[in-house]
Order: sequence, then structure tokens, then C-alpha cells
Amino acid sequence: MSRIIFFKRDLMTVLGLALLIVCMIGIVILTSTSVKEIQLMYDARAEAKRWATGFNTALQTETYDLQNAFANRRIHLDQRRLVSRIFAFDVFDESGNLFHSAGPSDWRPYRDLSFALKSPVTRYQRDRKLLTAQVRTGEESAVPANYASVVIPFHSAGDYIGSIVAFVDQSEQAEYFTNSFLIIASVTGIMLLIAFGIPSLFVIFRTRDRIKAEERVRYLSCHDELTGLANRKLFDRQLGRALETRKKAGVHLAVLIVDIDRFKEINNALGHSAGDSVLRYVTEILKSNIRDGDFAARIGGDQFTLILSSIARAGQAAVFAATLKEALSAPLWVNGEQITCTVSIGGAVAPDDTDDAAILIRHANLALGRARADGGNAYKFFEDGMDTAFIERRDLECDLRRALDSDQFELHYQPQVVLDTQTICGYEALIRWNRPADGTISPAFFIPLAEETELIVPIGEWVLRRACMDAAAWAKPLKVAVNLSAIQFKRINIVKQVKGILEETGLDPARLELEITESLLINTTGKVVEDLNGLRALGVSIAMDDFGTGYSSLSYISSFPFNRIKIDKSFVRTMTRDKAIMGIVKCIIAMGRSLGVSITAEGVETPEQNQIVKSLGCHQVQGFLYGRPVSASACAKRIAEPLKITLGNRAEAKRATRAA
Ligand code: C2E
Ligand code: CA
Ligand code: CA
Repeated sequence: MSRIIFFKRDLMTVLGLALLIVCMIGIVILTSTSVKEIQLMYDARAEAKRWATGFNTALQTETYDLQNAFANRRIHLDQRRLVSRIFAFDVFDESGNLFHSAGPSDWRPYRDLSFALKSPVTRYQRDRKLLTAQVRTGEESAVPANYASVVIPFHSAGDYIGSIVAFVDQSEQAEYFTNSFLIIASVTGIMLLIAFGIPSLFVIFRTRDRIKAEERVRYLSCHDELTGLANRKLFDRQLGRALETRKKAGVHLAVLIVDIDRFKEINNALGHSAGDSVLRYVTEILKSNIRDGDFAARIGGDQFTLILSSIARAGQAAVFAATLKEALSAPLWVNGEQITCTVSIGGAVAPDDTDDAAILIRHANLALGRARADGGNAYKFFEDGMDTAFIERRDLECDLRRALDSDQFELHYQPQVVLDTQTICGYEALIRWNRPADGTISPAFFIPLAEETELIVPIGEWVLRRACMDAAAWAKPLKVAVNLSAIQFKRINIVKQVKGILEETGLDPARLELEITESLLINTTGKVVEDLNGLRALGVSIAMDDFGTGYSSLSYISSFPFNRIKIDKSFVRTMTRDKAIMGIVKCIIAMGRSLGVSITAEGVETPEQNQIVKSLGCHQVQGFLYGRPVSASACAKRIAEPLKITLGNRAEAKRATRAA
């Protein structure tokens, strides 16, 4: 479209310019022709006068009679004619009667000399055509191609006595003037062309570049350069229009927000060019799935939006979302690596949810949040209640951001017991958040949010420092276990941080155990294994937490030498009722023993569970049977004044069993 506009504009400019130059050349030619005519006139008159000079003088001095004077001077005039350019002449008396004619034979041009009689001035006429038309004989060659007739009136004592009409041969002069003026016209034309044409072409190209640049700026202001899709600005405009059309047509319209799961990880692990390839790939899939009249835009780093302009009912949008999700989850090759790029999709439908563009987008965003919270690779459509959940979550996030500075976190410690000796060998540090409005909040509630917002990085650092400080102050050199999130490994140099905190607090590295979960090892990169080895090299031990709940793979256990495996409490809770689970627990313990890795059973609440894990060969236990997590001060007190755990905690165990 813009090319056609360019072409039209350029064509018009070039045509305009050409017209201007043609006009100017025309003016030059016309001017040249007029100048040429004037030049020729002067030439003819001068030549005629020169020829007739002697005769005129004689006339003045000798006689008042033209006929007599002419008779005397005729020879003289004829002779002079031969050396001048007068090729013919006619002599008229005062009444206008021709009484002598000289020139090529049979030369008789028609001439109305009435004007000569009336006017006493030398007359000049260029009438070649008329004269040529009058030439009748074969002596045409004697007749020049260009003539001028000059009427020379004669007077004597103030009286008109007659005229001589001299015919001047101007062939050479005419040719000379024509050539001169042709050269002048050509040179002027070329100069005009140079003077106007070149600057005009320059202006055309400059204008063309400027227009192109303006078009580009306009395009970029509404489009995403990487994918060529519309940007948020254009999307907003388009949504407004689509909603108007929807109202008139009485159809449904859906807005879908498509968000690439773990896009940051793809970028970090494979580089930004790989990230760009993924974005282009997603764009292609989106474009190939939407129908004519639908609209796709990229509104953020890894977020796309779709307007499905005309759908029969909300269910149709869900079918589309499901198809799109499937299409996008196919494995793809990026930079020589095969990856799976899944997406989360949030949708809202007009008029079912709302007909207001801003609310529609907000609803789609809320639905997207829900799809992401469900672990991604999912699609969700807006439902009532999502709004309140969103507000709650947003408030929670705000409060969580302030919690660290406001000193709202504290650590509780839960004992870890060696089964053989029934002695406490260490404590696991478990964070608590004293949220002013709600009291103490469980980490199971806020840690996922902290991970999502990456607030876990500063929070995790605080936990590590606090736990090491507390443990360093304990009366006995018991171990302290600290939970680490996968985000901490990804975002910071965890080895450096742990080393720094150990030095700062003076805690013996052998007293620190770091608990990690299987999520850290999924899509593992060399860096994670390097970090784990680095931590081991510091002298701290590593425990695999919640074993069996994630993507448990024996290869994790064998590829990295953990010091401990912690069997998740869900297995311990259900093993007495479920033989299959019991089999898994047996298996994990047997595997740990054969690999020489310590096994801890978590969530041991009853003597029965305790007895089973003990009989299966488990090394350590942790659970309400031996003690709930207690505050740092209570823990320090307990360590300083040890209780016999078998007595003190049986009562607690009974309470727990009753509660369960
Ligand atoms: P986890 O690491 O598996 O911690 C053990 C959880 O089990 C604790 O819950 C503990 O109170 C609970 N528990 C211990 N014994 C029993 C029992 O006999 N029965 C039952 N039903 N539960 C028992 P808590 O303190 O609510 O922590 C939940 C999770 O939050 C932790 O699970 C851990 O994944 C995470 N978390 C806690 N503190 C931190 C932290 O400082 N950093 C990180 N990254 N995660 C933490
Ligand atoms: Ca843990
Ligand atoms: Ca655990």
C-alpha cells in the first residue's frame, strides 16, 4: 500500500518537474525566436539602408524626381546589389506604381504598398511564405530561403516621392541565428535541468527517505519488531473496534492472553537468540490457528493476546484454547536443543463476562493467573470469584514485600532424631510469617508466592543467616537443616552466599545441612551440579527433601551424591493403609541404604509409624511424635536443658494422633 503511495507521489513530482522544465524550455525557445526575429529585422534594415545609402544622398542633392534619380543611379544600385545581400528590389513612384523591378527573372511578389505611402519610416517585413508562394519560375534556386522585404520611402523637401522595396537575402543570418539560439536554448535547457532537476531529484529522494522513515516509525509505534505482530497500543484500539462490531452483530467475542511458561528459564539457559526463536515460533502457531477477522498481538515479553472476533458461544473459545495449547506444546528444536515450550492461557468472553474492554482484559489476566498457579500448560476462563482471589493475592504479595524489612519473619525449629539412639541430632529451620492482620502464616501458603515473585532470594538469605546464627549460639553442636529453593540457585551464587554466611556466623560447615527438592534437578544444567559440589566442598551436607513427590528419578540420586534422602510425609502418613505406598517406602529405604545415603522419614506422628520406618532400616525421623517446630528461643532453651525425648514428646504425640 505504502509502496503504491510512494510510486504515485514520485510520479506526480517527476511529471510536475518535467512539465516545469518543458515550460521553461518553451519560454526560452519563444524568447529566442522573438529575439531572432528582432535581430533579423535589424539586419534586414541595416543591409537595405547600406545598399540604398548612395542613392538616397544623390536624391537629396541632385533631383526631386525619383524616376530621374533612379534612372541615373540604376546601374549604381544594380552594381551595389551584386555586392550586397539585396537579391531583388522594386521601385514605386509616389502613387504606388511600380516602374522598375530588379531580381531573379519572373520575380514578381505581390505587395500592397499602401502602408509605405502613408508611413514615412523604413518598413520591414518577413513574409517568406508569401514570397515563396509567388515564385513561379524555375529560377527558384536564385531565390533565397529566407527573405525580408524592407520598404525605403524617399522624401524630397518634405514630400513623399516614392519608395524602393528591397528584398534582403537573410538565409545565412537566419541559419546563423537559428543555430545560435538553438545552442542557447539547449544550453539553457541543460542548465535548467541541472539547476532544477538535480536538486529536485535530491529532494524527491530525501522526501522518499523521510516518508519511509515516518512510515517505519508509525509501524513500529504499533507493532512489535521481533514478531511483526501488533503491540499493546494497536491491540487496545483493535479490541475497542471489535467490541463495537460485536455489539452490532450480536455475536460473542473472546480475549485470550497466552503466556509462555518458564520463558525466563529458556532465555537464561539457552540465550536470548533462542528466546527470540521461541517467540517467533509461538507467533507462527498463533497466526496459523486464528481465523480471518481474528487478531493477534504481542503485549509483553512473553505474552500474546488474541481477539477471537466472532464465536458462537463461550465454549467455542475453550475449544480453541485447548487446540492452541496442544499445538504449542509440541517439542521444538532451538539452537540444536529440543525443548518443550508450554503455555498458560487465560480467557474472558464478551458479553458473558463483560462488554468493557479494560475489564475484559483484566478478567483474562485473572484467568491467566489461575492457569499459571495451576502449574502452567493449562487454560482457564474467567469465573466469578477470581476477582476476589486476585485482590487477596495482590495484597499478600504487597505485604510479603514489606515483611522482611518489617521484621515479620521468624524461624521455628523442629527436632530431627536418630532412631537407633533416640537422640536429637539436629533441628530443621522452618520459617513463619507473623502477618499483622492474620497472625502466623504457614510457609506452605506464602513460599510458593515468594518463589513466583523471586522474593525467596532475600527471604532465603535471611533464613540462612538467622539459622546459622541461632545454631552457632546453641549450647550443643547440633546440626541445623535449612531449606533452599531452586530460585536461589538460579538467581544468585549460592556457594558464595553460604560460604560468606558460615564465615560471618562462625558456624562449623559440618553442622549445616541444606535441603533441596527435586524441582531443582529438573532440566538440570551443569551449574546446579557445580553448585551442589561447591557446597559439598565447603563441608556442608545436602539432603534431598520431600523425596517421592516430584519427578522422582533414580538418576538424580545416582548422578549426585546426596548425604540424605527425606521421605515425604505423605508416604509416611498413608503407608499403614496402602500397601503400594508401603512398598515404595521400603524401596526408598533399601535404595538409600545400598547407596550409603542416610534416610530420614518425615511426618512421623505415631509410635506405629515410628516402629515401621525403624524396622525398615530408616536412620532418622522427624515429626510431631518427637516434637513440633518451636520458636528459636524455645528450641535454644530445650537444647540447653535437654528433656528425655521419649517422655516429653509422648504426650505431644498423643495429642497429634488425637488431632489427626
Ligand atoms: P518441609 O521442608 O517438608 O518441612 C516440613 C514440614 O512438615 C513443616 O511444615 C513441618 O511443620 C511439617 N511437619 C513436620 N512434622 C510433621 C508431622 O508429623 N505431621 C505433619 N502433618 N506435618 C509435619 P511447614 O513448617 O509448614 O513448612 C512447609 C514447607 O514450607 C516446608 O516443607 C518447606 O518446603 C517450606 N519451607 C519452610 N521453611 C522454609 C524456608 O525457610 N525456605 C524454603 N525455601 N522453604 C521453606
Ligand atoms: Ca525440609
Ligand atoms: Ca520435607
